[in-house]
Amino acid sequence: MSEVADGDMSIGNYQTREKYIQQVSYSLERLNPGLQVPPISNWSYLTQVHGIQILEVTGDDIVQGEDGDALVTTLENSVLTVRVADCVPISLISEGGAIAIIHAGWRGLLKGVLEETSNKLMATKPGKQMAVIGSHIGPCCYEFGREELDQFIQKFGISVEASTKINSSSLNLSAVVERICDEKGIEIIRKDSSCTSCLADTKYWSFRFNSTELRQCLFAWIEKK
Ligand SMILES: [Zn+2]
Repeated sequence: MSEVADGDMSIGNYQTREKYIQQVSYSLERLNPGLQVPPISNWSYLTQVHGIQILEVTGDDIVQGEDGDALVTTLENSVLTVRVADCVPISLISEGGAIAIIHAGWRGLLKGVLEETSNKLMATKPGKQMAVIGSHIGPCCYEFGREELDQFIQKFGISVEASTKINSSSLNLSAVVERICDEKGIEIIRKDSSCTSCLADTKYWSFRFNSTELRQCLFAWIEKK
């Protein structure tokens, strides 16, 4: 997952984004000797709309800004990306030989974007699934309206309600994601619990903190099967 120091990964300015993807690629290769990061032409990205549309990257065509909130592929060296600034970025890995990436905000989670993507991945390549969960806004900073919070409690149980630093009701996005993974039999192999709002403008960007238009990016690809 990229951080503030890696630059803005929003898709508004393609040239800037490409420049920063190049920078991220260089630092990944420097930190991981022998790693070959696929070229920018292999990086798929979505116009994220807080829905449950899942697109599959097949053949030589990457996804270039089509509407959707999840990507799936069985191809090697095809980079899937989602950009976030508080929402939960998730990558699913199937032992069958496929991966997915998901932009999971509260609207998408309520609509079932994680469950639907897991189902799609299972249909594409059956096998045990694992999840990597990137940084997102914590319950410490995610004050949430009563009506929407009750919808979450009804669907996912009381453990998803929490309190902010100033003692107002908040939504625990991690608890929602963990609950879904548990129900779907998905093993969480890595989770970054740092809060994007607590670390706003230093390590991550946070829309809730200052309505920024800048975004970090979670990216995943299959190196070799
Ligand atoms: Zn926080």
